[in-house]
Amino acid sequence: MPTGGGPAWRALCARAGLLESSPESGAPLVSITAAGHSTTTAIAIGRRIVPVTPFQQNCSLVWCQRTQRAIVVDPGGDLERVLAAIAQRGVTVEKILLTHAHLDHAAGARRLADQLSVPIEGPHRADEFWLDAIPQQSEMFGFPRTAAFKPDRWLVDGDRVYWGEQSMSVLHCPGHTPGHVVFHHADGIAFVGDVLFHGSVGRSDLPRGNHAQLIDSIRRKLWPLGDAVVFVPGHGPESTFGHERRTNPFVGDALFD
Ligand SMILES: [Zn+2]
Ligand SMILES: [Zn+2]
Repeated sequence: MPTGGGPAWRALCARAGLLESSPESGAPLVSITAAGHSTTTAIAIGRRIVPVTPFQQNCSLVWCQRTQRAIVVDPGGDLERVLAAIAQRGVTVEKILLTHAHLDHAAGARRLADQLSVPIEGPHRADEFWLDAIPQQSEMFGFPRTAAFKPDRWLVDGDRVYWGEQSMSVLHCPGHTPGHVVFHHADGIAFVGDVLFHGSVGRSDLPRGNHAQLIDSIRRKLWPLGDAVVFVPGHGPESTFGHERRTNPFVGDALFD
């Protein structure tokens, strides 16, 4: 498998994978019905990926099409880029969501939250030790000095997060970190952080990581959402659960027959 130039994020987050940026999306989805007819479904959210930090982390700006209210998922840093995307879209950010507490996902969250006067929701409390270690993580990787912080809401499996006229379900998916959560929107989109990548899965050799638990999270929590679900990983290109079930060398279905 090509290594795509060996970006730094792979060393921190993923076992293997490809790297490319993803365009803005928000166009209507065309779905194929059981009878083979295509129907156009108006989708409820628009979104745009803003790669941030030296790890090219996929921070997502996600907005409600009806209200233009928005969330920011995983603002790890480079906040001027995130703020520029917000201004360019003309949306109003209501809250910040965190999938997990590694610094490339979480280090910019408190500064952005204070600047926009919005709350931070997630991750699960089992990642508190990582949030407490953000100052050391920042120093180790040459990030701007960042204070430890707590979110305004810890999330648990089965929670929902709300903004505008939208909501997403919360799935607790430990393994990369113990408090990692995934957000799933009914439009068929999931924000999976460093749980799953196009052609790879998250690292599990960092403190309190667990490979068996990670694979279990993917197979028991993500696959039931459906093969058609498009997922935005923490790094690299988007994919679908179906594609990964067929081809992923770490968690594809063929490994479990
Ligand atoms: Zn990451
Ligand atoms: Zn991570």
